[in-house]
Amino acid sequence: MSWLSSASRIFFLIAGAAALGWFYGYPLALVAATLLALVLFWLYQLRRVQLWLEEPTRPPPDIYGIWGDLLARIYIHQRRHREIEQNLQSTVDYLQDSFASMRAGVVMVDENGAIKWFNEAVQPLLGLRYPDDTGQTLTNLVREPEFNRYFLQGNYAESLQYCTVGEPRSHLQVEITHFGTSERLLFVHDVTATVRMEQIRRDFVGNVSHELRTPLTVITGYLGTFLSDTQSFPAPYTRALKQMEEQAKRMETLLTDLLWLSRIESEERQQKQELVDIDALLHELSDELGCMYPQRTLVIKSGTDHKILGDYRKLHSAISNLALNAIKYSPDDSPVTFSWQRQGRYCHLSVQDAGEGIDAIHLPRLTERFYRVDDSRSAATGGTGLGLAIVKHVAAAHGAELKIQSKLGEGSTFTLVFPIKE
Ligand code: ADP
Repeated sequence: MSWLSSASRIFFLIAGAAALGWFYGYPLALVAATLLALVLFWLYQLRRVQLWLEEPTRPPPDIYGIWGDLLARIYIHQRRHREIEQNLQSTVDYLQDSFASMRAGVVMVDENGAIKWFNEAVQPLLGLRYPDDTGQTLTNLVREPEFNRYFLQGNYAESLQYCTVGEPRSHLQVEITHFGTSERLLFVHDVTATVRMEQIRRDFVGNVSHELRTPLTVITGYLGTFLSDTQSFPAPYTRALKQMEEQAKRMETLLTDLLWLSRIESEERQQKQELVDIDALLHELSDELGCMYPQRTLVIKSGTDHKILGDYRKLHSAISNLALNAIKYSPDDSPVTFSWQRQGRYCHLSVQDAGEGIDAIHLPRLTERFYRVDDSRSAATGGTGLGLAIVKHVAAAHGAELKIQSKLGEGSTFTLVFPIKE
């Protein structure tokens, strides 16, 4: 619109000059003089625009016509851009302030792995120095092989927990998330106190179980001797002695499970790494259970010969716990099926029974130590309440996941899902 009015003004100016020139007999000269004046005027305006553009934060000069219009638009755009920039900057400042005040260490890393920003809390944890280390490659500064491996491999679905190499030794937990184009945000927590508490708890349970074993062995030994000579005791004593022996045996099983669980837990990060033939393990287990429960039908469905890198004894113990549960919690005339199948990048080991099943409300807590669906049910079967806790820890030590499917009255399927590492 403004361009049209400027063009029409120029047109009328030249037409006026031509008419005036024609009246005085010099039309061309007057038109040329007008055009020259117009060009000089435009050059002058252009110079003013140029001067303003050198410092565009000032309000634009008051220019009439198309140039004025152009400057006003540039000025509005610039102001809007500045406002957006200020808003962004205040958001970034706000975020950095909140990260700076966090007790966890925070590091922002760009797409090339160079440090963009970090807070004070991370300095003692990763040994960084502010501001000297900004812009440096993070893995050049952090001399922790486990951290560097985790940082460089790029899959951050699970957090990393590691023990530092340097003194004083501490346990750090690192979580990494991607943001922006390929930037990364690292959260580093010092979990030394929690790890130590866990260790103390594990040691305590392990030591107590160990210490209780010797007196219990003596007690069961004497009970065995007394029971081998029942004629020397009146009948009520014999009954009491039998009950004592039964309970002492339960305690022994409980201590064995507790010791085994604390060993699995403490070795979770550095266990044996041997190639375990699951198919062969299932056949061996089925033979063992066949001797113990000759009345039961055990079926093996093996669809792969894939081998798992891990600890044979632990895997045997986990699968036999699942199998014993399937046998304990299902009727004698129903089969127990073991299956070993490959599904894409995972191998599934499942133990299925057609027993009493478990109500869905119990499933989330089933692997907790001593959690029982029904105390009378477990007491009748002589369970310790530690079987599934052992299975869960063995699964974790092998990078596997325990999945439970069950329906009351229809049976249960416990599946260990192993990722295939190729
Ligand atoms: P327990 O030694 O008592 O069997 P577990 O940790 O092995 O302890 O199992 C926890 C509880 O889960 C059991 O008390 C039982 O009620 C239930 N459970 C485990 N496996 C099965 C199964 N196959 N069918 C039905 N219930 C089961």
